[in-house]
Amino acid sequence: MQKEIRVTVWNEFRHEKENAAVKKHYPDGMHAAIAKTLSAQPGIRARTATLDEPEHGLTEQTLADTDVLTWWGHVAHGEVSDQVVARVQQRVLSGMGLIVLHSGHFSKVFRRLMGTNCSLKWREADEKERLWNLESGHPIAEGLGDFFELPYEEMYGERFDIPTPEELIFISWFEGGEVFRSGCCWTRGHGRIFYFRPGHETYPTYHDANVQRILVNAVRWAAARVWIATDTCPATKPLERIAPKEAVFGRAGVEQQVRDQ
Ligand code: ZN
Repeated sequence: MQKEIRVTVWNEFRHEKENAAVKKHYPDGMHAAIAKTLSAQPGIRARTATLDEPEHGLTEQTLADTDVLTWWGHVAHGEVSDQVVARVQQRVLSGMGLIVLHSGHFSKVFRRLMGTNCSLKWREADEKERLWNLESGHPIAEGLGDFFELPYEEMYGERFDIPTPEELIFISWFEGGEVFRSGCCWTRGHGRIFYFRPGHETYPTYHDANVQRILVNAVRWAAARVWIATDTCPATKPLERIAPKEAVFGRAGVEQQVRDQ
């Protein structure tokens, strides 16, 4: 039997407390809605973690028990501790999957793992977003048609300052004319990363059936397959005998010897 996928749904959980429009869509927070979607699937067990919990709810133990972490943040990126960011990065390099949502593009975690600014253009104008499915054979696009639409979303426009994705699954078109790489895959170390664009807090995006399907597919795709810690550089002995050579080359930290003719 296939192992259950353990997901931790992380949310900064600020807009839902302060903005009535957001609270209306997500009375218990976006993390609760996303976790509910995921946990309704066979073989997936989701729990939540939020910024204001001790260690942002992302202790060593929690991450050790997490196969996929999803990340939604916006106004409080700067409040995420660098220690937790480094911890998440190491877990991704060791095999944990990471799904970065919407405004998480500017999170410390995503920027650290991408190595670029992850900047973009934006506009809040209640416009239609059409997401084009570029890879219908990819596991993240399973069950989707050629495209689907969200009637109201925030616009994100290029250039999105990311490393060229290893796989580009979706491109969005917006009513105002812009396009955006809205479903992007990378590998970092042993971990898989998926960035998914929609999810502005004032719209009911995470209640959309296509968006929910993509989140479920992405969790299954990104789930840790191995756990291999690689944050060491050990010196190793040769497997075979290495024949003595005429020339002796200097090694760092070892005084160079010159052999007599
Ligand atoms: Zn937004």
